[in-house]
Amino acid sequence: MTSNREKRKIGRGGALKLKGTDWDPAQFRAKTPTEKLQELAASEIAATAYSEESVCSECAAERTRLGDDTALCATHLAQAMGF
Ligand SMILES: [Zn+2]
Repeated sequence: MTSNREKRKIGRGGALKLKGTDWDPAQFRAKTPTEKLQELAASEIAATAYSEESVCSECAAERTRLGDDTALCATHLAQAMGF
């Protein structure tokens, strides 16, 4: 049988664990500079894809097919990635 005091302890531990998934300094530090650059590049690509209203019929078809409003056709995806 679990006492009330033990129950409180478990509850608090669970809350801390949940908080840890949102912000874990140890995990943040573990990221390599390369990973950070990749994340930055990915966010810039996403920003470019959102800001540029260069949507052709192929883009629209991809969006419908994938159910993803940010999907691009091969041509525009390559453009968004800087090729
Ligand atoms: Zn396109």
